[in-house]
Amino acid sequence: MTTDPGGWVEYTVGDAPLVISAPHGGSLAPAFLPTRNCAGCITGGDDAIEELARRVATEFRTRTGRHAHVVINKLARSKLDPNREVLEGTGGNSVTVPIWEAYHAFLDTARSRVVRTHRRGLLLDLHGTVHPWPRLELGYVISAASLRQSDAALEASGAIGRSGIARLAADNEGHLSPATLLRGPTSLGAILARNGYAAVPSPDLPAPPEDELYYDGGYITDRHGSGRGGAVDAIQTEAWKTGVRDSPANLDRYAAALVSTAIEYLRVHYGWTP
Ligand SMILES: [Zn+2]
Repeated sequence: MTTDPGGWVEYTVGDAPLVISAPHGGSLAPAFLPTRNCAGCITGGDDAIEELARRVATEFRTRTGRHAHVVINKLARSKLDPNREVLEGTGGNSVTVPIWEAYHAFLDTARSRVVRTHRRGLLLDLHGTVHPWPRLELGYVISAASLRQSDAALEASGAIGRSGIARLAADNEGHLSPATLLRGPTSLGAILARNGYAAVPSPDLPAPPEDELYYDGGYITDRHGSGRGGAVDAIQTEAWKTGVRDSPANLDRYAAALVSTAIEYLRVHYGWTP
């Protein structure tokens, strides 16, 4: 494992085409690091997501004998938010800029290693939401309004080409359409649903309902996904709390489902088997 000089963000090097990112699960808030203080900044973290990332890493190793690349921010979100651009992410505090940069440098390194070894791969950016409805929100950097379009209009819009899975859309053996990749039978949402976690988008829930908030993917999914080039796709996963992140047993169950899902997704879409 590698860390930044202060030990606030850590990177565990992997050998599988999977990168796990956990930017909001940290709890360390040392007084000597400045607190983010900017208009509209969100400073509340995502409960249990650091633990989730560690469980996913362990479960993946147990199931495949291979290691995912894992990047974890151990600082509380009141100190650092790697899922925002640097000014908002640090609250304008120059002291924490190198830590913010280290997080992204670790993701860059992980993505380079994935491409060198496997040609292509997948980054999952793990989050937890306070939204109460029991479904995972999968963010591809495609807006809720875009997802509410018909399959044909969604394809015509070209939104997939700027999304976190732009590379997969351009380069998949089945020549799957954008709608099929986002909400068809082999979409991440479909596989998660089969593993016990309803998700949007998915075959059962092709788009977020009009009256409900939905996270469509943040800075990390945008910057480190293939919408900006490269061969590593990125998807943000937002998990609700009740029954998922509210006990160690539920967290174990969710981690196991994420790993089962990732293994199937990597096999179907990237041709990877352990
Ligand atoms: Zn988050």
